[in-house]
Amino acid sequence: MSAAESRQVCERCGATYDERETATACPSCGGLFELAHKFADAHRDLLRRTFAARRAAMRGTDSSGVWRYRELVLPSATDAEIVSHPEGNTPLFARPRVSAWAGVERLLIKHEGHNPTGSFKDRGMTVAMTQARRTGAAAVACASTGNTSASLAAYAAQAGIPALVFVPAGKVAAAKIAQTLAYGARTLMVRGNFDQCLSLAREASQSLGVQLLNSVNPFRLEGQKTIVLELLDQLDWNAPDWIALPAGNLGNTSAFGKSLREARALGLIDRVPRLAAIQARGAAPFAASFREQFARHITVEPETVATAIRIGAPASWDRAVRAIRETNGVVTDVSDAEILEAKAVIDAAGVGCEPASAASIAGVASLRRAGVIDAGESVVAVLTGHLLKDSESVVRYHQETEPAPPLANRPIEIEPRLAEVERVLRTTTRA
Ligand SMILES: *Cc1c(COP(=O)(O)O)cnc(C)c1O
Ligand SMILES: [Zn+2]
Repeated sequence: MSAAESRQVCERCGATYDERETATACPSCGGLFELAHKFADAHRDLLRRTFAARRAAMRGTDSSGVWRYRELVLPSATDAEIVSHPEGNTPLFARPRVSAWAGVERLLIKHEGHNPTGSFKDRGMTVAMTQARRTGAAAVACASTGNTSASLAAYAAQAGIPALVFVPAGKVAAAKIAQTLAYGARTLMVRGNFDQCLSLAREASQSLGVQLLNSVNPFRLEGQKTIVLELLDQLDWNAPDWIALPAGNLGNTSAFGKSLREARALGLIDRVPRLAAIQARGAAPFAASFREQFARHITVEPETVATAIRIGAPASWDRAVRAIRETNGVVTDVSDAEILEAKAVIDAAGVGCEPASAASIAGVASLRRAGVIDAGESVVAVLTGHLLKDSESVVRYHQETEPAPPLANRPIEIEPRLAEVERVLRTTTRA
């Protein structure tokens, strides 16, 4: 297949720019860019065969769950240019106890916490970092609620490019900061929220010549599209009825919409699943806007236990609206209590995820109760990050006493005596 360069197209005014343009907003109207690839010689069967053949690769670029789909990601990138860990290749599986709790029998879990730095952000970062290196970036930067910074730091280290991250002071889980520091990124703890971090990172990128690798960067979205491509591939291209995901800055919602649009246009799938974008109630401007048919662009002061989606002014708003409209999708919100209960169920099934991830399955349960999702429909819920990303929230949940959360598993302190172990065993019953 050919490796022609793609174009960047402004989503607002339609102006087109070179693939190597490094600004992340249209100089004439301020709109965001999206990549337009040339699909001229991409035949459905040839694509499916090519993807399947690459699955046999044990190492190298083809063994990446992102670059396996490179015709739909960044066709012009060569193996020598690509910065890949590799990433992707995340599992898709069923867990009956989670399905039973959500009330949806045909529920599958796509676990993106299995990526190299523990979140789906690696799928976007491999592409954005590849493009940063191809275009000679002197330094890269991002604003982050933690996972983007961990991912950016790892891929920048691999690429040998200096990295600068802006995180809200006191609002990022310790493990994410630990990763960022360990991988060697210059870490700025900003006394403000994520939205303020992003404005600062945008200003810095415009005036200081640092490339911005937030999800406003269209190359990030090209990589994140492969969450959907890979799960459809794992289903032998039989689309589920629904795909549910947590929604914060709306980069992933936008990427999923673009992926489904392109997969449908290429005939890889013959029907489009409905997207269910789930927000945390304390950070739910997109859900509020959905309830009024997106009549207004809303921003809020965000607060939620799900720190990865603690965002009040989502950057990818317009393209996420398009994703929801084109897929006949829905947007809803769930409370922190619902998120933590869903998380406890997912964790106790031996799966595990961070709080923001559990919003997807809490949302599925809520949409099922509301009759939006039918009991017989098939659903893929995306878990976006690993359990160990936020161990503070786990410890808090299981040790909380006033009141004890419904699924708390309290640790028991004992004297070093067998009789005490016996006593505990007697009270440990099997459900
Ligand atoms: C980034 C992130 C999200 C939110 O994705 P957006 O693209 O910002 O909507 C959800 N969960 C986790 C774990 C994340 O790291
Ligand atoms: Zn424009």
